[in-house]
Amino acid sequence: MERLQKVMAHAGIASRRHCEELIMQGKVQVNGQVVRELGTKVDPTKDKILVEGRPIRTEQHVYLMLNKPTGVITSVSDPRGRRVVTDLLRGLKERVYPVGRLDYNTSGLLLLTNDGELANKLAHPSYEIDKVYRAWVKGVPTADKLGMLARGIMLEDGMTSPGEARLLKRDQGRALLEITIHEGRNRQVRRMCEAIGHPVLELERVRLGFLTLEGLATGQFRPLTSEEVSRLK
Ligand code: URA
Repeated sequence: MERLQKVMAHAGIASRRHCEELIMQGKVQVNGQVVRELGTKVDPTKDKILVEGRPIRTEQHVYLMLNKPTGVITSVSDPRGRRVVTDLLRGLKERVYPVGRLDYNTSGLLLLTNDGELANKLAHPSYEIDKVYRAWVKGVPTADKLGMLARGIMLEDGMTSPGEARLLKRDQGRALLEITIHEGRNRQVRRMCEAIGHPVLELERVRLGFLTLEGLATGQFRPLTSEEVSRLK
């Protein structure tokens, strides 16, 4: 038996806090009865839970890591019919959602899950997970410019928080950088590199906290192990 708001949050309804509000507002029914008590315990595999009249999904949680190719949208559907990341999850029965996003032209490590609570937690700014990118940029940045990337850069939505930036390789007027950030703002790495005058040519996310792409070819996915899931929580 688990607390009702926890089961609702796990089903991806909203954050636990918002689920508590829905309960107090009388919008949640368990086995046909409106429940307003926050302490109510339910069995997610047996009890029929309705939120605003609609049954919630209490399926098993699934946690996946995908090595996203470029040319795929981080979404579960696209009105223009372009390829989306969930098209790559052949054979998967459960509906999962991407945690955060990678741009259409960015490749690399993307998590997908139907555990709304963990997804919210990972996406929250207070969850300081390392996000490590390899970026081929135009030109070769000086040590000063790499220092700027690492210390923080003023973008139109404010200063970026400190991270790391190092030069891995240079080749024919291009440089391969490894950039570690802890935030997940829209097109952040591309905007940071552009701000120092070295636009990104190719971008790949190679690590997320302790998770790496090791053994996972582009376009492949694998479930996280239960140990990996507990380390993320
Ligand atoms: N930063 C970007 O600019 N793009 C991504 O896809 C991820 C991080």
